[in-house]
Amino acid sequence: MNVGRSARPSDKLLEAKALFLKSVEELARDPEQLVAAVGTGLDDVFDQLLRQACEEAGADLDAFAAALERDDALRGEIQQKLAELFNSSTVQRARAAAVKRDLQRHLHVLRFVLSGHEPPAWVWDSMDDDEAMRLREYREEGGDEDPALLSRVERALAKVDSGDEHAFGRCEGCGREIPLERLQLMPWAERCTSCQRQLEVSGSDRTDSSDRRVDLWMFFEAGKAVPPAQQFRPGRVTANAGAPGS
Ligand SMILES: [Zn+2]
Repeated sequence: MNVGRSARPSDKLLEAKALFLKSVEELARDPEQLVAAVGTGLDDVFDQLLRQACEEAGADLDAFAAALERDDALRGEIQQKLAELFNSSTVQRARAAAVKRDLQRHLHVLRFVLSGHEPPAWVWDSMDDDEAMRLREYREEGGDEDPALLSRVERALAKVDSGDEHAFGRCEGCGREIPLERLQLMPWAERCTSCQRQLEVSGSDRTDSSDRRVDLWMFFEAGKAVPPAQQFRPGRVTANAGAPGS
């Protein structure tokens, strides 16, 4: 099919490239789609868009991949476009929203384990059958007891349901966003680290042992009772995107 290995990509490959870049631009202009794409994993979405572009142009996907590998200009052009998209504020916001949604999923699972409170359907939908079954069995066997942690988890979920989309993850002390890295360790955290520390120094801290109950949290990560959050882990996508010319 592809005769020779000329330095210039064939017309079909160039058309596939144009179609691919066009679909990436369309995605970049559609915030709702973009949020969904970040949720799915941008790498997977790009993969799919490239497949579609090749199909439409009648180009061979493997030939396109090979051309990408040997043609610096072609690769640079595509990397540049993807980097623009990755660095856009929409993607940054979408990524933060996806991380937060994953944290909320963890909170729902935790509440279920601690109290039997049924998670919403989308939380079950995020697990495969095995994972859902293991989780239900764990709860039926008694789950876990930690009233203090449960009340913090419920308080965090009440913020999620408050109708104020910024309530979850906002520090109760200073009103600023709690860094995602802290929330990823403690999705039930009420305060940012410095406000928490101040509270502890002033002695009015009512912190219970639940901040140290990371073991329960780790159970879910290590025991894979719920899918690990790797898909939303910040940095993974950027690490793969590559900067232009890198
Ligand atoms: Zn604070």
